[in-house]
Amino acid sequence: MTQIKHPVLERIAQEHYQAIKKYIVNRSTYNISMVEQWVQNCFGNEWNFQKLILAKPHELELLANQYKSKCCNVFGYFETLYSYLNQSDKFTDQDDKPYQAYELIVKLGVTVCPYCNRNTIYNLRYTKRRTSELDHFYPQSKYPFLAISFYNLIPSCKVCNKIKLDNDDKEYINPYDMRFDPNKNMKFSFKLKDATFYHSVDGFKIDYKFNQKISADEKNRIENNLNDFELKDLYQNHKDTILELIQKARIYNDSYIDELFKNYEGTLFKNREDLLRLITCGYINDEDIDKRPLSKLIKDISQELGLI
Ligand SMILES: [Zn+2]
Repeated sequence: MTQIKHPVLERIAQEHYQAIKKYIVNRSTYNISMVEQWVQNCFGNEWNFQKLILAKPHELELLANQYKSKCCNVFGYFETLYSYLNQSDKFTDQDDKPYQAYELIVKLGVTVCPYCNRNTIYNLRYTKRRTSELDHFYPQSKYPFLAISFYNLIPSCKVCNKIKLDNDDKEYINPYDMRFDPNKNMKFSFKLKDATFYHSVDGFKIDYKFNQKISADEKNRIENNLNDFELKDLYQNHKDTILELIQKARIYNDSYIDELFKNYEGTLFKNREDLLRLITCGYINDEDIDKRPLSKLIKDISQELGLI
């Protein structure tokens, strides 16, 4: 579980809204005032089309809880609009360049699935083929009115998207939802089983622990993620990575790291963080853990081992 953060996230969300609105205004059989009317009729005067498309995760949750399976049939049109996100000749941006799911995911810079932090989701520039999918955090089948809402569209790997679909009544953490901090409140850990573990992955198992101050709600959501996405089991396949960290923690003690830094600062490493990334093979800053598969696992275990 990693969060999707971006310095200009709200601008990217605005551009998403503008591309959809532009299509409705210029090319749709429904005009924009009709769409505005649908939104107000269903959700009340305080809502409008823009607010619905740009609804933040906590607002999506409120709408989803309140209007599940109760909404007007007209919102089937939003599912059609969503299907256009996968077609090249429908939406265009302010500069009249095509706007599709591909452009959205590239702009967000998400390259590792936020649900599993395990599978990469690269996009091919020329054919625009994607190893990524857009997961509807609230599925279209039950919440068609959220089918094109920006913060309901989560770039994810195919496996996680399918698992989410199969568990559409469970609560998870929306990667855009900053009310939660799964990176801080859940840490991967390892449990020693055998003192000979320095030589074998059989000597330990990967475990996890929660911050004692975590809310029951957040804990439940994280546990759903760990259990339903089978992360506890899947991560056992990466014990070789952890074994290497255990070995490195013995080799790279503080004085050795100091010496390497002194010798190579400015030539091989621009700063100490650079050197630690080389040693751990993972990013050590919280804001970077979405940049490489298994970064959270590597960072948490490296901290536990005193390596970083
Ligand atoms: Zn995934």
